[in-house]
Amino acid sequence: MARYTGAVCRLCRRENKKLFLKGERCYTDKCAVTRRATVPGQHGKARTRKASEYGVQLRAKQQARRYYGILESQFAKYFDMAAAKPGVTGENLLRICESRLDNVVYRLGFASSRKEARQLVRHGHFTVNGKKANIPSILLKAGDTVAVKSKSDKLKGVVEAFGSRPVPKWLDCDKTNMTGRVIELPNREDIDLDVEEHLIVELYSK
Ligand code: SF4
Repeated sequence: MARYTGAVCRLCRRENKKLFLKGERCYTDKCAVTRRATVPGQHGKARTRKASEYGVQLRAKQQARRYYGILESQFAKYFDMAAAKPGVTGENLLRICESRLDNVVYRLGFASSRKEARQLVRHGHFTVNGKKANIPSILLKAGDTVAVKSKSDKLKGVVEAFGSRPVPKWLDCDKTNMTGRVIELPNREDIDLDVEEHLIVELYSK
């Protein structure tokens, strides 16, 4: 499946929820969910049918997938990894998504959205533990350090986004040196995604 390249605000309107896909605009009243709270498309306003159990589970999965910008096949792979780990599968799944390099770059404030973070990573502007890292899906673990490459710290996106959002407590950010460290992987209460992850587990367990 190809990556979605259409208007990202449509994705939020489809879920009727802010997924914060567009950087600073998401925090203003220009946000499309605030302005037009209807499902996109010609018959959007008419779509008021009660969702089936499957429909509710599907929407939960789509919301999480779209929030992190992860393709279907990769997300299913993460579910298998989460199910194989000890603990609560749904929480494991979200923890794996949070540990992706593109998400950590975004959480540290080096990019205004995960999409921008992914692009900056792909273009080779970051190192992980001192080594060049240009794969957005690298999964980080406690103790790993992320740094903006010295030639990249003047990048417009990096400079504009840096320090504009609070950094979650599971990450440590050194603003002077533009580096970050994963202190520990997050617990569920550290993840601000408004999704009932048990619905995703139920969907994949069918
Ligand atoms: Fe979603 Fe952001 Fe667009 Fe609002 S502005 S609809 S939160 S992507």
